[in-house]
Amino acid sequence: MDYIDSKSLRGRLPVEDTNLFRRTGRLHFSLTVALVAALLPPTASSQPLSPHKQIEALVDRYSAQYVQASKAIWEYAELGYHEEKSSAILQRDLREAGFRVEAGVADEPTAFIATYGHGSPVIGVLGEFDALPGLSQAAVPDRNPLAAAAPGHGCGHNLLGAGAALAAVALKEYMERNHVAGTLRYYGTPAEEGGDGKVYMIRAGLFRDVDVVLHWHPADRNTVANGGALAITSAKFLFHGVAAHAAFAPERGRSALDAVMLMGTGIEFMREHIPSNTRIHYIVSNGGAAPNIVPDTAELFLYARSPSLDTLDGIWGRIVKIGQGAAMMTETTVDVKILGSDNNIIANDALASVAQKNLEEVGGFRYTAEEQHFAEELQKSLPPGRVRETGSTASIEPLRRFDPNEPAASTDVGDVSWNVPTIGFTAATFAPGVVPHTWQATACAGMSIGQKGMLVAAKALAVTGADLFSNPQLIQDAKQDFAHQLAGKTYKSEIPSGQKPPLDYR
Ligand SMILES: [Zn+2]
Ligand SMILES: [Zn+2]
Repeated sequence: MDYIDSKSLRGRLPVEDTNLFRRTGRLHFSLTVALVAALLPPTASSQPLSPHKQIEALVDRYSAQYVQASKAIWEYAELGYHEEKSSAILQRDLREAGFRVEAGVADEPTAFIATYGHGSPVIGVLGEFDALPGLSQAAVPDRNPLAAAAPGHGCGHNLLGAGAALAAVALKEYMERNHVAGTLRYYGTPAEEGGDGKVYMIRAGLFRDVDVVLHWHPADRNTVANGGALAITSAKFLFHGVAAHAAFAPERGRSALDAVMLMGTGIEFMREHIPSNTRIHYIVSNGGAAPNIVPDTAELFLYARSPSLDTLDGIWGRIVKIGQGAAMMTETTVDVKILGSDNNIIANDALASVAQKNLEEVGGFRYTAEEQHFAEELQKSLPPGRVRETGSTASIEPLRRFDPNEPAASTDVGDVSWNVPTIGFTAATFAPGVVPHTWQATACAGMSIGQKGMLVAAKALAVTGADLFSNPQLIQDAKQDFAHQLAGKTYKSEIPSGQKPPLDYR
């Protein structure tokens, strides 16, 4: 024996071997090798990785493919219910990874469910892939649309959909290798931006047998999202008047645009008398055809939001009255068409503490010099007070419950959380200080900062999924917390029952 590698010596300090070495006259050298080897940490080949480390390694293994998918979806930038190519690319990748794919569910052509495994428990992961109108932007740190007024991924749903699929693929392979029982589902959910794809999927019964749902959303920081989001109802107020020549015979006309403007004025006066955590915003989606024609149709498209649908309902009733009042004042009529409605997200403390532990274990990431430069350039375009330290992407925010009075958006994840115990993450896909629905967010979602954040989210989702599959008590605790949070409350939706998905809602 003239060669001894450190691996073969580890764990068996050489009592008998010392004789051998003495015989070879190499005692001093050999003992040194043996002692050093005994003190070394175990290598990857000598000791299996922990389940979490196995999963993180699987996420890394498939990351290039899903970074590519995120880039393709970013380039397609398809609006809600029109995400044909984006949905197809994720369906293809999941099918090739061994999932059974059912497409076009819940009367939504771009919705799908990809399933692996059988039986209980059933864990769902949510994916989105719709873009926003007008937010086209190159992956550069100054305003530069790829196409004028075209859609763009200003909410980072290209990362959301691809990152959630990456988590599902890594978790599926881990389950397969380790003979983990249960069902893993990826929900391809269209039209999060105002189309409420998930609400119709809930109505179709697609979440009925799910034990826990996991989700994530792009952001400028790494957090566990325990609760949050505002309840919302959106509607179009379509006024009908009488057309006339605006100069020759204005007395014959009844202006639908006048009604729209009076409705807006009424809402501005009402603002003083509603809770300060209410948000109401609107656009004139139809203001008439030409100044010299009294508009016989005009439309106000309005969103109203509040911490819960219960508090929103009373305010909504007043908004409708203002619309009716505006119609009365102008001798027009009004049709109110509810387009969408989401609930707030129900917190789940049992799931949140596990999610926080896992996110801290996964950790954040640091920028390269190039990414640092990109982020700093981008931050120059932000309003004062918005900028955060770029180093914050390396850390995880402390766990806390959502405060209903802090600024928030809305999401149809809220409705899922009223039906199934749900927990989410955010990951630092946007340069610190960048908020969603901006060109700056689109820029980050199309380059490495967004892609690195996506990997943080994929790992956090996948390891949390693995914990749920391996620990039935955790699912029980999540269900108990769910029941506790919703005690005395009933799930409802303001979307009229029987309404089909609004495939052309824009
Ligand atoms: Zn959004
Ligand atoms: Zn979003």
